[in-house]
Amino acid sequence: MATAIEACVHCGFCLPACPTYLELGEEMDSPRGRIFLMKEVLEGSLTTDAAAPYVDRCLGCLGCVTACPSGVEYDALITLYRARAERTRKRGIASRVLRAMLLRTLPYPFRFRWALRFSMWFRPLLRWMPGRFGALTQLVPQQIPSAVVLPECMTAQGPQRGRVAMLSGCAQQVLAPEINMATMRVLAVNGIEVVVPPEQVCCGALAAHTGAMQDARRMAEKNIEVFPHDVDAVITNAAGCGSGLKEYPMWLRGESRAASEFSTRALDVSEYLCDIGIKDPPAWEGTLRVAYHDACHLVHGQQVRNSPREILRRIPGVQLVEIPESDLCCGSAGTYSLEQPELANSLGERKAKAILSTEPDVVVMGNIGCMTQVDVHLRNLASSLRVRHTVELLDAAYRGTLGEIKGG
Ligand code: SF4
Ligand code: SF4
Repeated sequence: MATAIEACVHCGFCLPACPTYLELGEEMDSPRGRIFLMKEVLEGSLTTDAAAPYVDRCLGCLGCVTACPSGVEYDALITLYRARAERTRKRGIASRVLRAMLLRTLPYPFRFRWALRFSMWFRPLLRWMPGRFGALTQLVPQQIPSAVVLPECMTAQGPQRGRVAMLSGCAQQVLAPEINMATMRVLAVNGIEVVVPPEQVCCGALAAHTGAMQDARRMAEKNIEVFPHDVDAVITNAAGCGSGLKEYPMWLRGESRAASEFSTRALDVSEYLCDIGIKDPPAWEGTLRVAYHDACHLVHGQQVRNSPREILRRIPGVQLVEIPESDLCCGSAGTYSLEQPELANSLGERKAKAILSTEPDVVVMGNIGCMTQVDVHLRNLASSLRVRHTVELLDAAYRGTLGEIKGG
């Protein structure tokens, strides 16, 4: 932590990249301000609780990491700081209950599905609840898709070009299970065998980014143990999870060689597909205006900016349009929309308006958290614009169903 803090030269280049600074205009709600606060806490001049409101408002979007010319590792700093601060901070009862609830349900698809069902039944009551609990209503979907049991292996179509293992994620399995199936089909069409280790668990990112580092380490160790070693890559299709897998060496304090090897093999599906070179989808006579939103944990967390765009450009009929402030956080950020509902709403609305300004037929991104947040705020603006994952569009192109995406 000390190295990251010392690397900051207070230049302020990161300020315009920080969503909370843009929204609130306060130095202490900027990356530079937060680095100063964390330094004060570590030196004992400030209490954890005094710094907490400002540190809690940080989305962990890592826009500041991309913007920083001095290479300040804010990602490691905020994760390690939150883990350390959690040991001493005093939380109110509502905060403790919500945190325990999220950590005990979200990473477990079966529990999460039941928690959503429960919330759907009690939606009218939730609406009247104050603050964070009331914010849950926005995120509870109108309906929950049927559960999809993923095959443990999908064989390659045609000559085999590679073999990968896929992380199936937790919340995504419940909210949009078709993304995993689309990922497997797209890889298989491109000659890749896909295995899905049945013993895998949540990547641990949710726990790590809320300071529950013990939980995060336990999940990382389990995944390192159960994923096969004889694969070309460990594929993720949720930006937050991919970024989490790449942080395993940091979570495990760099002691584990297995963690480094595992994280080196972790790749976002778009990155992997571009590396191997994708098969051309069949011709399509229609046109589709596609707006692409950069998920923070792809563009800032993993520096994956071009691969999804390259894939989309390969799809016949696609006209790719850029969203203003495309790499500014949408306000989803894991559990942020529950913990900081006002800021999350304001960023969500800003993002939805920016997307609609491009007048697309569909908006595409690579992270389930962003997809949920953007969908909520598009609906709040009375828009029926569809939100899709990058691999869903490619899958539709291979299957000849792009017309359905355009037509709804
Ligand atoms: S851009 Fe980097 S060095 Fe400059 S203030 Fe921000 S974190 Fe510090
Ligand atoms: S991670 Fe995002 S919200 Fe947090 S300080 Fe950096 S830019 Fe601001």
